[in-house]
Amino acid sequence: MKPNEVQSFRKALIAWYLAHKRDLPWRDTTDPYRIWVSEVMLQQTQVATVVPYFHRFVDRFKDLASLAGADSQEVLKVWEGLGYYARARNLRRAAQIVLNEYGGVIPNRWAEFRRLPGVGDYIAAAVLSMAFGQPYPVVDGNVKRVLARLLIVQDPVNKASSTKKFKAIADNLLEQDVPGTFNQAMMELGAVVCKPQQPVCDGCPVQKMCRAYQSAQVQNYPVKLKKQPTPEYHIAVGVVFKNGHVLITRRKPSGLLGGLWEFPGGKTQRGERPAAACTREIKEEVNLAVKVDAHLSRVKHAYTHFKIVMDVFCCSYVSGRVALNGPADHRWIKLEQLDDFPFPKANHKFFDKLKQYVSKK
Ligand code: SF4
Repeated sequence: MKPNEVQSFRKALIAWYLAHKRDLPWRDTTDPYRIWVSEVMLQQTQVATVVPYFHRFVDRFKDLASLAGADSQEVLKVWEGLGYYARARNLRRAAQIVLNEYGGVIPNRWAEFRRLPGVGDYIAAAVLSMAFGQPYPVVDGNVKRVLARLLIVQDPVNKASSTKKFKAIADNLLEQDVPGTFNQAMMELGAVVCKPQQPVCDGCPVQKMCRAYQSAQVQNYPVKLKKQPTPEYHIAVGVVFKNGHVLITRRKPSGLLGGLWEFPGGKTQRGERPAAACTREIKEEVNLAVKVDAHLSRVKHAYTHFKIVMDVFCCSYVSGRVALNGPADHRWIKLEQLDDFPFPKANHKFFDKLKQYVSKK
């Protein structure tokens, strides 16, 4: 874009944003803690899903010090159901570092903020621009799509090596005087006007400067690499009953769903029946012999890079003492205590059936 066109673009975009922006609880604040929490939650997650979680989180952890001092299980419990739990663990660790190394004041320099756990280029640019007015462009999926259409960019938006190019374009367009407002306006435009399917070009404030629209090629952008098919794994888990209690295990603190609680189990092997996989996995994971009493449920759940089909069995304890091979911890709990522990969303999908099963026993 020519410099005068860039000026017109900024002006039109910001005027539209100020007049039409959605009323969201993390807007109209410059509190870096709240902005940081909201941006971490918004990664990979839709605004409508984030809003109630954001309220709950900042009600419970009002400031950085209260988050830093919180128990990790409590943080995971408040985050429960939002997914990508490493975000919550990292946020708490980062809060502790800020408290210990920066006296509780969130650093406003790129190098210092960017090195905190869980802070990548996106979070750093978002927080530094919105909370501190620093001129860093935010480039997320929405922004890439807008830029790809606006300037008919041929580089695929889902190719890692394209990010540099999109950053350079965004940097050139960025309104240096109000970078936070500009970044939010770009993301808002992508979220509500320049949507992935059926963009609302007729109501778009930057239609005049949009090369894809002006050349009637909107449907060709953004360019995307074909996705590989998502693998699907079959899992078998068992709810082991013993003297009115059930066994739950805690996953290791890091990695997928790290620190969350679940029922013992694992992947079924090729040709293996799910019930047999359940008893084998329980023996391998917690060293207990169990008997399968009933098939409780089949649960399907999709993660970012794979899907699972999970067969859930109700089992009776037969013999053995718990010895952990994989899980970080275990508890025998009453079913009423389930809600005291953070569980992955896939587990919540069969909790009602489990409660019904127990009530009929
Ligand atoms: S004119 Fe259409 S394609 Fe172009 S930026 Fe606006 S909404 Fe997106």
